This record gives sequence, structure tokens and C-alpha cells, in this order.
Amino acid sequence: MKDEIILSGNPNVGKSTIFNSLTGLKQHTGNWSGKTVELAYGVRIHKDKEYKITDLPGTYSLMARSREEEIARDYIEQNKDACIIVICDASCLERNLNLVLQILEIAPRVIVCVNFMDEAKRKGININFLRLSELLGVPVILTTARKKKGLGDLLDAVYEMTSRTVTADPPPHKIVTEDPNVQKMLEKAKKRFSENETYNQINAEEYDDILVSVFVSAAEKIHAECVSFEDISKLCDRKIDRFLTNKLTGFPVMILFFVLIFWLTITGSNYPSELLTGLFARFKTVLTDFLIFIKTPDWLCSLLINGVYSVLAWVVSVMLPPMAIFFPLFTLLEDLGYLPRIAFNLDRFFKKARACGKQALTMAMGFGCNACGVIGARIIDSPRERLIAIITNVFVPCNGRFPLLIIIMALFFTGMAEGFMGTALPALILTAVIILGVAVTLLISRLLSATILKGMPSSFTLELPPYRRPQIVKVLIRSILDRTLFVLGRAVIVAAPAGLVIWVLANVHVGAESNSLLYVISGALDPFGRALGMDGVIILGFILGFPANEIVLPIIMMCYLSTDTLIELTELSQINRLFIQNGWTWVTAVSVILFTLMHFPCSTTCLTILKETKSVKWTALSFLIPTVTGIVFCAGFNGGVLVFRAFANL
Ligand code: GDP
Repeated sequence: MKDEIILSGNPNVGKSTIFNSLTGLKQHTGNWSGKTVELAYGVRIHKDKEYKITDLPGTYSLMARSREEEIARDYIEQNKDACIIVICDASCLERNLNLVLQILEIAPRVIVCVNFMDEAKRKGININFLRLSELLGVPVILTTARKKKGLGDLLDAVYEMTSRTVTADPPPHKIVTEDPNVQKMLEKAKKRFSENETYNQINAEEYDDILVSVFVSAAEKIHAECVSFEDISKLCDRKIDRFLTNKLTGFPVMILFFVLIFWLTITGSNYPSELLTGLFARFKTVLTDFLIFIKTPDWLCSLLINGVYSVLAWVVSVMLPPMAIFFPLFTLLEDLGYLPRIAFNLDRFFKKARACGKQALTMAMGFGCNACGVIGARIIDSPRERLIAIITNVFVPCNGRFPLLIIIMALFFTGMAEGFMGTALPALILTAVIILGVAVTLLISRLLSATILKGMPSSFTLELPPYRRPQIVKVLIRSILDRTLFVLGRAVIVAAPAGLVIWVLANVHVGAESNSLLYVISGALDPFGRALGMDGVIILGFILGFPANEIVLPIIMMCYLSTDTLIELTELSQINRLFIQNGWTWVTAVSVILFTLMHFPCSTTCLTILKETKSVKWTALSFLIPTVTGIVFCAGFNGGVLVFRAFANL
């Protein structure tokens, strides 16, 4: 009978390379009975033995959380006599050891193959393989599969192992679960879960999570004992990482990056914005003259110029410059590989909130578009944690809301202080708003974990990819095409009809007093708006902005303009005047900022949530939770200001 070799390992560790080298052309793929996934089989003769070699799908764990993990675990469990080669990447051995330890728990014949030794050498990583073999209790072979180095040793080790008769079942090297401390902990957890009458899938998942965290910490210990870094100067990435992800320096650097980006955006967009507004104003005169020349009726002229054109001009001239600066800068950070470092810094906070560290990555995707963030939550394996990530994604301002925040900062907080601080203050406040968004995400995640989405955080090992030299041209193209023009296009498409609707609302008069519809609706919303530090028009803006948040501010402006004398809006200061004439104060500005950060997701995001969760209930909750949070924050802030003022006047 042929002996069997099973190849397993994390994805991208060189498994296929080793499989191809070992089997040459003698391989085929076939369905494993009962499963629809294809496994590759091959044959290899070494010395006097013929081996059947099976290549399992690459997995990070055997916890059966994904289809691949389930298949790998079942296949190993059902082929206990096989010799299992666990292939690891020498340059990130710690993460790979997690799988090694899990396999050692269930399989009696294991060989650990540490591949990518060439990379490890280049990076100055030393692996004490004798100690590693001693700690794991199985042979460890070092290979460089790409150059076919070490494969002979690997086959010799297999030969030796398959020549011995191993009768051990259960496996002889249960390093982790045989540790008395671990056993005690697992027993306790098991008891707690079986005693719990409402034992359900979430509890089982929680138990698995505890198990995984035990493996992770064991892997960490073994790694610390067997791996050393020869010449730290070679590990430039590591040095930078130590600085960027350090507990002391990580956060200040992160905040500094954001302040810098916002400062560049807010100060840099003033001039082009004024230039564009001026151009649009000039063109407006030309357009009006033309419409009069072709004898357009007054009402149509007003609709086209004051309705559609004003909103379009506003969207382009006020929103384009900040976006054209912010998005390339943000994409640059993304391209450098900084975003996973942010996720790494936030990881422990997410664990504390009983959510998944990967949620920080979905938040970063949400900076682009919340719908993308919602789809991105697929990277989170646990359904409980994925739902938390989906519901809270809206707390990071997307493309559509970012310009709104930036403009309000520029309108109300520029020049509040002297000199440099005058321009730096809006950037600082905007950074504070983002930090508030993260804090609220953590708070709501924790609340959800304690109530409707009960459970413990799952363990995962976050990979920090190497830094890359950013490709400037690609960054520019990607940020201008994918983000700036996309947002602008969407705003224009939605803004033009919105301008039309508002014009109609403002010009259709109803009731005995013949008030405009706009006046009636915003009047009805006014008490609610006031309670939140805003007014009825602003609330109407948010409601009508449901199709796209980009148009919230233009709607508000249109509403004010249609109820007031018309102002030529040629620069930001005049928009500021319009708002002040309509009763805005800094309290209004802060309330609008809070509500922008925390309210229902746009229609596209809601549809995406429905598609991803396939549940009306979770979609409704994703709509309600941020809205209620926003209402609570705004009402709380406004109430606080009122109380403070009352005391100050005493
Ligand atoms: P798998 O996903 O585990 O099957 O990984 P592959 O066999 O597809 O290998 C991923 C990449 O790593 C390929 O480009 C291989 O050529 C490369 N690779 C595999 N082994 C080594 C190695 O020992 N050293 C180096 N430098 N590259 C390797």
C-alpha cells in the first residue's frame, strides 16, 4: 500500500511550489468524496517507497470557520496514518505556528517544513530549528522551494517517519491542550457553556475563540524562543513598525498624520474654491442672458438658474477642491501600507469591545464609501463580528460626508484663532471628529456585544504587509478617477434633480396663508431640529440627502435661499453669512457635524447591507442604531450647552 503525504499550510507559503516539485507531472485533481472542492493528488517515489501526495487548501486555522478550514480539518482527521507536512513561511513563522500547533493536536505523524529560507536570510531572520524541533516534538526541515533546496531532506524525513510504526492515537504531541493550566481554563469554559441553558452556536464559537487564543499565545512563546533577528538594520520595516505601532508613539503619529492631511486639505482648497466660484458666477450671467435672449419664461429661467445651476455650481466649486486634495493624500497613505498599521494600533481596543481587529480595516474602507466598508466586512469570519462591523461602519465619514465636514470646518472654525492656529484649528477639530467616530464605533460595538450580538472576540493574527514605495501616478489616477470624480458625478446626478425638487417645494404654495411647501415641511420639522441644536431645514436636508449625503449642504442652502432674498454666493464667507442670517451659531455647526457623523446610512449603503445580511431586521437596525446615536449625542450636546449657559448667566 502507498503511504500518504498530506501537504498543509497557510496560503502563500509555497505549498504548490513544493507539491509541483515533489510530484513533477505525475499529478491530477479530483473531488474528495462528499465534498465539491477539488484536491490535487500526485505520486512520488523515494528510495524504495511510493507516496501518494495530497495538497490541501491553504488555511490559517483548523477551526472550521470557512469551507477550506473545514475540509482541511476533516481530511486530516480521516487520514490519521498519513504523514502531514505543515509548510511554514520562515519570515512570518509566528502566524504559521498557530496552524502547526493545531495540527499537532490531532495528527500523530507531523513534519514541519520551514520554507522561504532565502527570504529569511535576506531579512536577517535566524531560526533555531533544533530548538524548534525540540519544542514541537517533531522534525523540522528548512527549505527554499523556489530553488528546490532542502526538498531531499524533506523526503528523507518523510521516509524515516513512514518507516517507523506509529501507533499513537491520540497523537503523542499535544503541546497546547495538555498543558495543565490550559486544560483547567478550557474545562472551566466548557463547563460554563454546557451549564448555560441557552447554549447555542454563539457559545460554541466563543469556546473556539478561547481555544484559538490559547494557540496564538503558545505560538508566540515558541516563536520568541526560536527566532532571532540577526541584523536589525536589515529589518528597516520592523524598525519603522516599532515606531508606528508602538504603544507610546503609534497614536500620536497617527493623529499627526490626520491633522496634517486635514490641514493641507482645508487650507489648500480655499484658493481653487474661490477661483471656481468666481468662474461659475461669471458663467451664470452669460447663461441668464442667453435664457432671456431665447425668451425663456421667467419661471423656467428661475428654475434652471436658481434651482439646477446654483446647486451644480456649488457642488463643483465647493466640493471639488477639498476632494481633489484629500483623496490623493489618503490614497497615498493607503498605498504606502499604513492602513494595516492603523488596524494594528486599534486591535486591542476592538478586542476590548469584543469585536474583531479587522473591523479597523473595514472602517478604513468606509472612509472611501460605507457601502464598500459593508462589503469589506466579508473579511471578518465570525458572523457576529461581521454584523457589528456592518452596523457601525457608518460612523466613519464616507466620501459623501467628508466634504460636508470639511466645509463646515472651513466655514465656522477658520480664523477663530490667531496666526497658524487659525488654519490648524479646523484640522484639529476634524481629527477630533474622526477620533469621536472611532470611539463611538467601539462603544456601540461593545454595547452590541453585550446585548443583541453577545459573544467574545475571535482571535486572528493581523498581518503587517511590507511597506511599498507608493506609485504616485497610479495614486493620482486612482484617487481622481475612483473617488473624486465618482463622488462628484454622483453629487451632480443627484443634485440637479434635488435642486429641481427643492425649487418646486419652494414655489408651490399651499393652505390659507399660501405658504410654500418647503416652509410648511421644514416648519413641521423645526421643533425636532431645534431640540437637536439644528433647525427644520437642516433636518429636511438630511432626509432629502438619503440618496447621497453629498447633497445635504446644497439642499440646506437652496432652502435658505428660496426663503430669503437671493445672495450671490461667490465665496465661502458669503455662504457663512447666509447660514448666520438663518440663525446658525457654532452650536449649530457642532450639532450638524455630530449628526453628519452619526445618522442613517445613505440609500446605496442600506441596499448593500440588505444584500450582505439578507435580513430586513439587520438592515433596519443598521438604519436605526446610528440615527438614534446621533439624536442622543446632539440632544445631549445641546442640553449641555443650555445648562452651561443657564449657569453662566446666574
Ligand atoms: P501556496 O499558496 O502556498 O501554494 O504558494 P505558492 O507555491 O503558489 O508560492 C507563492 C509564491 O512564493 C510563488 O511566487 C513562489 O514562486 C514563491 N515561493 C515559493 N517558495 C519560495 C521560496 O522558498 N523562496 C522564495 N523566495 N519564493 C518562494
